[in-house]
Amino acid sequence: MKIIFLGAPGAGKGTQAEKVAAKLNIPTISTGAIIRSALKEGTEMGLAAKAFIEAGKLVPDDVVIGIIKERLAESDCQNGFILDGFPRTIAQAEALDAMGVSIDLVVNISVDDATIVERMSGRRVCAACGATFHTKFKPSPNGENCPCGEPLTIRADDDPEVVKSRLVIYHEQTEPLKEFYANKGLLKIVEGQEKLEDTTALTTKALEG
Ligand code: AMP
Repeated sequence: MKIIFLGAPGAGKGTQAEKVAAKLNIPTISTGAIIRSALKEGTEMGLAAKAFIEAGKLVPDDVVIGIIKERLAESDCQNGFILDGFPRTIAQAEALDAMGVSIDLVVNISVDDATIVERMSGRRVCAACGATFHTKFKPSPNGENCPCGEPLTIRADDDPEVVKSRLVIYHEQTEPLKEFYANKGLLKIVEGQEKLEDTTALTTKALEG
């Protein structure tokens, strides 16, 4: 299965993608996580992406397309994968087509903007292992720390002002992908629920149906 999860930043697509990936035993590929880890390691790509990611802007298409090309060539992607946070523009979706990747299903998790802003303020991430939590909806079993032992942090781009500008970019550049994939007959819409297990149930249904 080759699946794309679409949705606004903070819609919960990463969390749902990981659950489905574990069930199907395929990897989740998150361009955001790959970029953040490059940033932490101080690689050339990480440094080039730094200003964009911190301002909540999209990293240029050629950079993320290069990341995806490299990642999809790895052996663990042979039996399928889930894309979380890619594509984010029509140009990226067209590049995926041009790579000969044939997607089976696109799941869009829909959540309104006001809920997104509220949710992002509670998001916590582990800078060491990349795990994500939410103070209200998905608390860490280890309190202020990640189960791996490291303290949890707030992403700079989860600042409410940055979130608002990320939502503007989402509506302008990423939301048109819903129509792009609907036209290909691949789109399933899942209404994001307050409880993540309820969203998981709807996502499972969308995958089965
Ligand atoms: P995410 O973790 O998916 O919310 O991504 C965090 C940030 O990484 C985004 O706000 C962008 O700056 C950058 N990013 C991740 N994926 C992409 C993509 N497909 N295209 C452009 N920028 C991206």
